Amino acid sequence: MMPKLLFILCILLGLWSCEATQDPVYPPHLSDCYRLHELTEKKDPARPGEWLYNKPGDMHQSLKAYIASGPYRTDSLHKKLYLVKIGAFDADAQAIFELTVNYLADYFQIDTDTIPALDAGLIPHAFKRIHQGVPQLKSIYILDSLLPHYKPADAFALIAFTSTDLYPEDDWNFVFGQAKLRNGLGVWSLARLGKEGRDNPSNQTLLRALKIAGHETGHMFSMPHCVNNVCNMNGSNSLAENDRQPEWLCWECLAKLCYNRNISPQKHLEALRAFHEKAGSDAAIIRYYKTALQRL
Ligand SMILES: [Zn+2]
Ligand SMILES: [Zn+2]
Repeated sequence: MMPKLLFILCILLGLWSCEATQDPVYPPHLSDCYRLHELTEKKDPARPGEWLYNKPGDMHQSLKAYIASGPYRTDSLHKKLYLVKIGAFDADAQAIFELTVNYLADYFQIDTDTIPALDAGLIPHAFKRIHQGVPQLKSIYILDSLLPHYKPADAFALIAFTSTDLYPEDDWNFVFGQAKLRNGLGVWSLARLGKEGRDNPSNQTLLRALKIAGHETGHMFSMPHCVNNVCNMNGSNSLAENDRQPEWLCWECLAKLCYNRNISPQKHLEALRAFHEKAGSDAAIIRYYKTALQRL
C-alpha cells in the first residue's frame, strides 16, 4: 500500500460552500479590513504536489458566507482557549510552547491558559507505536478519548502540544496535527518542525509552530482554507509549502476573525506587531504588521 502523508487534517471542511455574491455593507470594524486588500496577494494557480492541486474541492468562502454559516465562537460560558502539553518537553520545546500560549492570545484576542501537563503514559500501549524507528502517538485517540476528560468547563477549545510524532491511522506515516473543529479539540506535534532537531530550535522552527497554531486555531473558529489569497489560512501539503506561506492573514480572513471575536483589526495587528518585535521575528513579518497598521 502506498504510504500516505498528510500535513494537517482539517475535519469538517466539507461544510463550507462557495458564495459568489459580493459583500453587503459591514460594520466599520469589518470594513476596515478591506483597506488591507492592496496588501493581499492573489494566490497563484496550484502546482502539482500542492494542497489545492490535490484538493480542488476547497472552495472560496466569502465573509458574507462565513457570517451566514454561524461560525463556532465563544459564549459567556465557554470563553477561554486552553493549551496542554502531552509527554516530555525539553527546554527549547517548552519555550516554543510558552510563546505559543502568548501568540494565540494576541492572534485571537482571547484569554489563554494552560492545564497541567498530561503524562504520555495515559495513552494505552495500543495507541502508540514505533514507525520507521520513530516513536509515535495516535492522534485520534488523543482527540476522542484523552482530551475530552481534561477540557475545562469554561473552555472554548483545548489544544494539546506534544514533542512526540503523531499518526492518525495505522496506514498513515505521520500527521503534523489534527483537530475536531466543532468540539474545540486539537493536537499538534513539534516533532517535524525543525531540521536541526528539537535540541536547537531555530527561529524557523518557532515560526512554523506559530503558523500552524494560528492556522489550526483559525479552523477552530470555523475559518476554512483560504483559496484565493496568499494567507496563513492556505492549506499546506508539506512543510515546504507551509514555509512559502505567510504568517499573516489576508484581509478577508482577518475580517472573519474580527467578526468572530468582535474586535477591530487594529487589536489583532498591533498585538502581533508587538509579539513579533519582542520575539525577534523575521523583519519581513514585523514590516507587514507595521504597514498594515498604517493602512487602517
Ligand atoms: Zn488547514
Ligand atoms: Zn485568507
